[in-house]
Amino acid sequence: MLDILIANGLIIDGTGNPGYYGAVGVQDDKVSIIRGSLEDVEARRVIDATDHVVCPGFIDMHSHAGLVILSEPEHHPKVRQGITTELIGVDGNSYAPFRSHDDFLAFVEINSGLDGNPPLPGQWSTVEQYLNMFDRKTAVNIAYILGNSPVRINAMGWEDKPATSADLANMKAIIREAMEEGAFGLSTGLEYPPGNYADTDELVELSRYVADLGGFYHTHVRYKDGDRFLDPFNEALDIGRRSGIPVHITHFFQSVPIRGGGRRMLQLVEDAAAEGQDVTFDSYPYILGSTRITIVFPDWTHDGGPAKVKEVMRSDEGRARLRREVTPRAPSWGDMWLTYFKQPQNHQYEGLSVAEVATMRNQHPVDALCDLLLEEDLQTCYVAAGSNGNTLPAFVTHPLSMVGSDAVLVGDFPSPRTYGCFPVILAEYVREEQQMSLPNAIRKMTSFPAQRLGILDRGILRDGMKADITVFHPKNVHAPANRANPKQFPIGIEYVIVNGTVVIDGGEHTGALPGRALKHRR
Ligand SMILES: [Zn+2]
Repeated sequence: MLDILIANGLIIDGTGNPGYYGAVGVQDDKVSIIRGSLEDVEARRVIDATDHVVCPGFIDMHSHAGLVILSEPEHHPKVRQGITTELIGVDGNSYAPFRSHDDFLAFVEINSGLDGNPPLPGQWSTVEQYLNMFDRKTAVNIAYILGNSPVRINAMGWEDKPATSADLANMKAIIREAMEEGAFGLSTGLEYPPGNYADTDELVELSRYVADLGGFYHTHVRYKDGDRFLDPFNEALDIGRRSGIPVHITHFFQSVPIRGGGRRMLQLVEDAAAEGQDVTFDSYPYILGSTRITIVFPDWTHDGGPAKVKEVMRSDEGRARLRREVTPRAPSWGDMWLTYFKQPQNHQYEGLSVAEVATMRNQHPVDALCDLLLEEDLQTCYVAAGSNGNTLPAFVTHPLSMVGSDAVLVGDFPSPRTYGCFPVILAEYVREEQQMSLPNAIRKMTSFPAQRLGILDRGILRDGMKADITVFHPKNVHAPANRANPKQFPIGIEYVIVNGTVVIDGGEHTGALPGRALKHRR
């Protein structure tokens, strides 16, 4: 007797192969494919998938749910997109290990405009304890990658200084423990202190060690490096070549307005792959990006941690220097919209641009930001256009790309990618614009990321695989989230099954929390 029988659907198995009509059985947490007559098949529950696609659950290669999901474990914005596994710990910012709880709290604070600062259900210090917070307590599976920021904080503190050989030895010991407890590799976010204080040689040394342990390198590159165009990606590829580590470039798209620039970026990666380098990337299909607003403050303000950032903002001298040095991370302050305010008097600024807020407060934009950040304990987030919409499809549809939502789960006005990233690809890239085939789009959301992570029992619908399954209506699937009204759930994602348990049932959340903490195995 099967637990669930999903009958009459078009099965697209995640490999990139075309679909076929058949039935998918679920027993406990495993899949079986049923061919031929269903007459003798007994099941406790039958889901009629007529006119629907049945495929593996989607895997998000760039998740910012490492804290938020612990306080909102049903994880509606993501699981309703058909996502069943997320990679957390990206951008060099992972929330374990932390030997000192004060360091943990400071790290949460400095990143709160990106990863939130929600009430947490408990305390942890090791990766193992952290992963236990998720296991069977969240709607989706979690895969964890170790950020180099906590590695550096644990070994060297918050300062901008080069690593000594003793520091490197300490960092390797931290990496070994994290990898043994299930981390899938090392992430960097080379605009986020203190991880960005690491130079290339340090990252090569650590990556060689991670590669020996079977992990990969997931990088938000050093965008301000060298020519600010190809050099940041050259550094990532160089780290791969010198250390032997597989390289994954996250949120890869054209942000620099150079004609032909998108093609040249892709060529760089294609050339590396043609030379035999193991390199992949992820992209998200929206122009609007988002992160913590503190990213606009120069590195020196962070040298020493969040207490230092606040000290600089409070001092007249610091303010004067910030007014001279801080520039918008967009064409102008009018192109950066603020969100995620906790102080009631600041809610009026939700969704307004920095320029608008500065005018309302009759302040210089940098002073407005500093005052707000001090009131908000640094938690403010912003949204702005980040990529060239003309070249974005070449990235999203590229054979080496998978999907990383980069969904920021805080504030009233997040980027629409938070609610629409995966379905918009199915609806617009595949159905409306025919930029790629449906089996290929599904491959990028399922087996390809599973292969990159080294998860061998998910990402393909085949006998014996784990029952992470998404059932959607290919003609109706639609992502209504937009800039003005970003918190809209997708339409047409009808069933989402995680480890054999139905989480989305007829488009509604069942409240089930069957997600597991997946662990890297060599
Ligand atoms: Zn990033």
